[in-house]
Amino acid sequence: MEKLILIKYGELTTKKDNRKTFIKTLETNIKNKINNLYTSITKTMSRMYITYDEINEEEILKKLTKIFGIHSIVICVCVNTNEDDIKNKVLEILKDKEFKTFKVSTKRSDKTFPHTSMEFNNIIGALVLKNFNTKVDVHNPELNLEIEIRQEGTFIYNKEIKGLGGYPVGIQGKGLLMLSGGIDSPVAGYLSLKRGVNIECLYFESPPHTSLNAKNKVLKLAEILNDYSGTIKVHVVPFTSLQEEIYKNIPGNYNITIMRRMMYRIAEKYAKRRNCKILINGESIGQVASQTLNSMVVINNVTNMPVIRPVACLDKLEIIEISKKINTYETSILPYEDCCTIFVPKHPVINPSLEAAIEYEKLIPYEELINECIKNIETIKIKKQERDELL
Ligand code: ATP
Ligand code: MG
Repeated sequence: MEKLILIKYGELTTKKDNRKTFIKTLETNIKNKINNLYTSITKTMSRMYITYDEINEEEILKKLTKIFGIHSIVICVCVNTNEDDIKNKVLEILKDKEFKTFKVSTKRSDKTFPHTSMEFNNIIGALVLKNFNTKVDVHNPELNLEIEIRQEGTFIYNKEIKGLGGYPVGIQGKGLLMLSGGIDSPVAGYLSLKRGVNIECLYFESPPHTSLNAKNKVLKLAEILNDYSGTIKVHVVPFTSLQEEIYKNIPGNYNITIMRRMMYRIAEKYAKRRNCKILINGESIGQVASQTLNSMVVINNVTNMPVIRPVACLDKLEIIEISKKINTYETSILPYEDCCTIFVPKHPVINPSLEAAIEYEKLIPYEELINECIKNIETIKIKKQERDELL
C-alpha cells in the first residue's frame, strides 16, 4: 500500500535565500539516503512530502531519523479538503486503534474551509465520541488526533517522530576533522555535521608504534559518522618519521606541544588542498596538558585557519553521553593505542612558551618531513558494507 510521510523542517530561523538552499540541500540528502525506497518527494517552503510503499517504512524511518535538518517525521494520511472525506478517513484510521482518552487538534491554514479550527475540533470530537468507547482528555490524551487543513489537502495523523534538528549536511561547506580513536573527536564530528558542515577526516598513524587495529577503529568511527553524512573520506597520514624525529631531538616535556603543532600544520595544508574551510577537533579545555588555554595558544599559533572545537566547553561526562547516543562510545573505548598515547612524556609542559617551541622546532627539518607526510597520505572512502569487516 502506498503511504505518505510529511517532513517538518528543522531550525528554520534562516532567511529567504538561505531557506531555499536549506530545503534544496535537505531534499538532496534525503534522496541520497533513501534512494531506492521512495516513490516521490515533493517540497514546499514549509515541509516535504514523501510517498513510499508500506514495505519500506521501517527502513525509511531508520534513515530519516539520522538526517540533520529534519525537525519531525510524521506518517500521515492525506484526503481532499472536504468535510465528509475527512470524517470518513478519521473513522477508518481510528477503527483499529485502542485508546481510552483522546483529543483533536485541528490547524486550519486553508481559510476557505468553512469551519474554524475550534469548531472543527468539536465536530470531529463529537464524531469520535459517538463511534468509539472513549473520553476526551485535553491535557494528557492517549491519542492525539492531528488534522491539518491546507490548500494542498488535509493531513491526518496521530504520531510525530522527533528528527535530529540542525542544518542539512553540506549547507555550510566542508571542514577537516582531526579524527582519533578517542571519545571526543567523533562527537566533535557529529556536532559539526549537525550544524550543516560536511566533513572529511584526517587521521595520524605511526606504524609500527600504532597498529592496524587502531587504524581500523578510526575507520569504524568514520563509518558510524557516515550514517549522518554519506560522503565521508578518511585521509591517513603516515606520521612515524616526523614523530620519531620529534622524540629523538626535542626535550621530552615539549614533545606533545611540538607534535600537535605539526599536526595542525599538516591539517591546515591538507585542508586547503581538499577545499575544507575550517579545522575541527575534539579538544576540550583543560582535559590534558596540551589543552590548557596556554597550550592552545602555542599550538594554535601555527595556523590562521579557524579551528572549531565543538566539545571545548563540555565536561567529559557530557561528551560520553553524546557518544553513547550516537553509537561511537563502544568503539571509542576499544583499547588500541593512538599516536598521542605512545611516547607520552612523564611531565608534559602545561605552560609552554611560544619562543621555546619555535626554537626547539629548528632542531628538526620539519618542513621536509611535513611535505613527505602529505605526499604519502592514503585516502579511504567510507562505504556502508565495510563496517562489520573492519574489526
Ligand atoms: P580522548 O577521548 O581519549 O580524549 P581524543 O581523541 O580527544 O581522545 P586527545 O589526545 O584529547 O584525544 O586529542 C585531542 C584532539 O586531537 C582529538 O580530539 C583529535 O581531534 C586530535 N587528535 C589526537 N590524536 C589524533 C590522531 N592520531 N589523528 C587525528 N587527530 C588526532
Ligand atoms: Mg580528548
